Amino acid sequence: MALTITGLSKTYPNGVKALKNLSLTIGNNMFGLLGPNGAGKSSLMRTVATLQDPDTGTIFLDGLDVLKEKDAVRKVLGYLPQEFGVYPKMSALDMLQHLAIMKGITNKTERNQMVDALLNQTNLWAARKKALSTYSGGMKQRFGIAQALLANPKLIIVDEPTAGLDPAERNRFLNLLSSIGSNVTVILSTHIVEDVRELCPRMAIIANGELLLEGSPADSLQELKGKIWSKVVSTDDELRALEASLNVISTHLVGGLHEVRIYADASPGEGFTPVDSGLEDVYFLNLAKQSKN
Ligand code: ADP
Repeated sequence: MALTITGLSKTYPNGVKALKNLSLTIGNNMFGLLGPNGAGKSSLMRTVATLQDPDTGTIFLDGLDVLKEKDAVRKVLGYLPQEFGVYPKMSALDMLQHLAIMKGITNKTERNQMVDALLNQTNLWAARKKALSTYSGGMKQRFGIAQALLANPKLIIVDEPTAGLDPAERNRFLNLLSSIGSNVTVILSTHIVEDVRELCPRMAIIANGELLLEGSPADSLQELKGKIWSKVVSTDDELRALEASLNVISTHLVGGLHEVRIYADASPGEGFTPVDSGLEDVYFLNLAKQSKN
C-alpha cells in the first residue's frame, strides 16, 4: 500500500501557512515523519486521516483518492490523534466494543474475538474492566493503538504517541508499534529523533510546512560519516566564536560544559575529535540548512 502526497498546501484562516506545496511518497512498513513542534505534522496527518481539507494538492492511497473518497479511506484507516479524548468512566473493554460497532463490525462473535485479541496484544487484558480515566499515560497510548487497530486497517497514523511517556512506558509502546504486521503502513509522526531511529526504515523530515529530507535513516547517517566533529568548550564566549565561524549543528550541555558538534569535511581545528554521526545530527543539520535559506 502506497500513500502518494502531491503538492499539498494549507493556510489556516489566521494566515499561518502550515503546509507549503508538500510532496511525499510513503510505502509499506513503518515511516517516520520527523519535525519540530509547529512543523505541520499534525496538519498533514489530519489531512491524510480525512479530517481536514488542504487548499491545494492531492493524496492517493493506492488507487483511492483520499480527499474525495473519504468513507472508503476511513474503512482502511486507523488513527491515533495527538490529543485522544476518551470517555473517562468507560472501561477499555466497553469502549473498544463501542468503537468496533461504530466501525461496522456488527457480528458479535467476530467483534468479541477482535476486541479480546487487541486487549491481549496491547497488554491491557488484566486492566480491561478498569475505567480509562484510571489508566497511566502509557496504558492510554496502548489503548489508543488498540482502537486504531480495530477492523484490520491498512494504514495506521500515530501522531506524537510517545510525548509524555516515561522511558519504560515509551519502550513498551515502541515495541508494540514494531510488532504491528508488515503488510500495514504505519506513519509515526514525532519530534523525537530516537523514535524514528529505533523503528523506522524510512523517514521524512519536515519543518515550516516544507519537506527537508526523505530517505532512509541509514543512508542519511552514511552521508555524514567522517564529517561530524566534536569539541567541549567551557566558556560562552568560546561557544559564540565557534558559532560565528563554523557550521555548528548542535550544542549540548555535558556536566555544565558545552559539547559542540560541527559539520565539516575535514577537521575544523585544534581540539576537535571526529565522532560517530547520529540521526540527531541529520535532523539538526537539515533544520539549520532550512533556517539559513
Ligand atoms: P506539528 O504537528 O508539527 O506541531 P501543526 O500541524 O500542529 O504542527 O501546526 C503547524 C502550524 O499551524 C503551527 O504554526 C500551528 O500553530 C498552526 N496551526 C495548527 N492548527 C491550526 C488551526 N486549526 N488554526 C490555526 N493555526 C493552526
